[in-house]
Amino acid sequence: MKFYIETLGCQMNVNDSDKMAEFLVANGLTRCDDYADADMVIVNTCSVRFSAEHKAYSLLGRWKEIKDNKPNLVIGVTGCMAQYAAKEIKTRCKYVDFVLGAKDFEKFSKTVKRFLPKTNSSSLHPFTHSPDVFKYITIMRGCSNFCSYCIVPYVRGPEQSIDYNIILDEVKKAVNDGIKEIILLGQNVNSYSYNGVNFTGLLQKISALDNVTRIRFMTNHPKDLSDELIEEIAVNKKICRHIHLPLQSGSNDILKAMNRKYTYEQYETLYNKIKNKIPDINITSDIIIGFPGETDKDFEATFNASRKLQFGGLFIFKYSVRPNTPAAKMGNKVPLEIIKKRHTLLLEDSNIISKKINEKYIDNTIEVLVERYNAETKTAEARNSQNIKVFFDSDKDLTGQVVNVKITKVLPNSMSGKLQ
Ligand code: SF4
Repeated sequence: MKFYIETLGCQMNVNDSDKMAEFLVANGLTRCDDYADADMVIVNTCSVRFSAEHKAYSLLGRWKEIKDNKPNLVIGVTGCMAQYAAKEIKTRCKYVDFVLGAKDFEKFSKTVKRFLPKTNSSSLHPFTHSPDVFKYITIMRGCSNFCSYCIVPYVRGPEQSIDYNIILDEVKKAVNDGIKEIILLGQNVNSYSYNGVNFTGLLQKISALDNVTRIRFMTNHPKDLSDELIEEIAVNKKICRHIHLPLQSGSNDILKAMNRKYTYEQYETLYNKIKNKIPDINITSDIIIGFPGETDKDFEATFNASRKLQFGGLFIFKYSVRPNTPAAKMGNKVPLEIIKKRHTLLLEDSNIISKKINEKYIDNTIEVLVERYNAETKTAEARNSQNIKVFFDSDKDLTGQVVNVKITKVLPNSMSGKLQ
């Protein structure tokens, strides 16, 4: 029996899909890359943006056509959209066999068991990871911050930190399988707390384990990123020199309406503190354009903040209405043409900034971890500690190795160079 999983949305979903795949493989199924070949298809949905929901429904439509000719095809819907729109999915897509929301992720094994062939395998069957370079490990689920535009607290429930013993076991297993980089995931990793261990404590415990070479984490919330954590990153060389610190807006009125719980000035102070303590850090950020009520003046504040702070990378999102969030009920919606115009202005400017920041690498030899190799083009894809992608030509597959590359060319979000 073959299965196919389509993952939409964030890294948390990628990680949940990996876990589902582990369970299915442990129960005798084989993963395939084309849903047309599969006996079980699952779409792990996202509801952060409207477009992701649209994509899930169109995929389900295509799967229905397959099921019409292959009635035994099992179709499942998991993730955030399955959490808040389960009823709608079941009504619109009666042919779906199971719908399992993000809050109920732990019930996945129970839910799919009835569709699996009878084998001696169980959920305890040991699963061997195929050797890979990095591994996402979820350290927290849910979120209790209730940013007014965000659906996550409603679909994933309140913030819950995972027992650090479970996390440490997962890390040990990953490094034993040859994983070189551990990426810790949570909606707000800075507020991790389990039995008296905070996020800094967790990082210390993980770095103390044998064979752990690189640790990354995301995402951070400016209101919770502590001095203690900044100190730890500064002295702990196993922690990558990259912090993703979402700003969302440079206007205090908009930040307040977003319920972000910090002002622009507080953000800037934190940003400068990090830069001063960790000079080689790369700080990247998120911005939402067109939040309800965003005036030209508010946008100007965001634009100026981007120029002043000089982020190494900026992810700019157009505001997307999410049902049942406080922002959905707010008036003064910004017309789409204005959102698009502001988006383009900020994107063009931030790309110039990121490229300029990357230019400092030209002619420098830097250490990178090789993530992928294309044998046809003989090109390797790697990443430096600052989370910038680096491409270079290589005759050999060096995947999983740390190598030196002399940078010859830079773009806003990547660089290329010569293997040394
Ligand atoms: S911190 Fe805010 S934006 Fe991030 S998941 Fe929580 S509510 Fe959503």
